[in-house]
Amino acid sequence: MNQDKHFDTLQVHAGHQHDHLKAVNPPIYQTSTFAFEDADDGAACFAGENAGYIYTRLGNPTVRHLENAVAALEGGFGGIACGSGMGAVTSVYMAFLSAGSHIVSTDAVYGASRSVLEKHFSRFGVQSTFVDSSNLALVEAAIRPNTKLIYIETPANPTISITDIADCAVVAAKHGIKLVVDNTFCSPYLQQPLALGADIVLHSVTKFINGHADVVGGVIVTKTAEDHKLLYNVMTSMGPNMDPHQAWLVIRGLKTLSLRMEKAQANSQIIAEWLEAHPAVAWVRYPGLKSHPQYEIAQRQQSGPGAMISFGLKGGLAAGKKLMDSVKLAVLAVSLGGVETLIQHPASMTHAKVSSEAKLAAGITDDLVRYSVGIENVDDLIADLERGL
Ligand SMILES: *Cc1c(COP(=O)(O)O)cnc(C)c1O
Repeated sequence: MNQDKHFDTLQVHAGHQHDHLKAVNPPIYQTSTFAFEDADDGAACFAGENAGYIYTRLGNPTVRHLENAVAALEGGFGGIACGSGMGAVTSVYMAFLSAGSHIVSTDAVYGASRSVLEKHFSRFGVQSTFVDSSNLALVEAAIRPNTKLIYIETPANPTISITDIADCAVVAAKHGIKLVVDNTFCSPYLQQPLALGADIVLHSVTKFINGHADVVGGVIVTKTAEDHKLLYNVMTSMGPNMDPHQAWLVIRGLKTLSLRMEKAQANSQIIAEWLEAHPAVAWVRYPGLKSHPQYEIAQRQQSGPGAMISFGLKGGLAAGKKLMDSVKLAVLAVSLGGVETLIQHPASMTHAKVSSEAKLAAGITDDLVRYSVGIENVDDLIADLERGL
């Protein structure tokens, strides 16, 4: 596939390699292993002199289709698909961190991306520091001689805070450190971190890329062949690989990414403005509102504000619970980025067991409601929210 095509063309066609039957949709190569022509062919496959498939943990044509498609959309050298977003995150940590090395990360990063470092990688002597990465001075101040990665999530969860990718890339390059960006909230349709100077970009494709809340998965894209080789080696030896059927579902979801994102984003802008004007709402955090503290950065590095809104209710925790129980259209569930609108109240749900101090430090106030906007009719979504407010 010619890489000079536009995004909406690439999302439909990139990665597809017609087999001898010319199936328009990729076959699901539901096989664990692949036969060799003869002993010499087997030896050449293992020596890497021949591109043939060997065993599905090491590579599979359906999975390769997805890897190549996401790599094309992110403008990278190549992709590595994993069984979950966390499979992608931990593969990146495993590839670049060793005993005695250090990582600087966004404080409001996805919960498991932080806890796996603090609870598990720490057992192997890996050090981690979490800072508000929307403040570049804090990122730079956290760098130590043993820092190997700057890892940012932007927009971050659930505060929707935004980090300047190009600024972080300058700092990373100055210190000879790799910059990794979790691009799950924007998808490559709205933000392409490699073009802004990042070395590695990763996704939980569970969210916008698949977009139908029916599969869990992750994809990493590297800028260079060298990083791709290292990551592929780490991922295929550890084994958080993606299954061919999982890849096939994600390929199907990916084909409509731009259409879903445009509709969800248009809904989001209307809803965010409506919320901001509502008397029961204390504050709204959405990159498409001028009131967003990093509005200017969002304008510069994202081609659109996306479909995730956080807002606070004047009535705090009690009002949040009432809203959860009153909405009928928005589904009360975690996750995000699907065609259906989801609502979640971190203080009474995902973060109910977290101490008040820790919640406050991460910006998760009792009044915070997280709203993942789907592709439903916007008037129906607003009527649904109005009932609860
Ligand atoms: C969901 C999510 C992850 C983890 O992905 P899984 O597919 O659930 O393993 C990582 N980062 C972000 C930003 C996410 O939203």
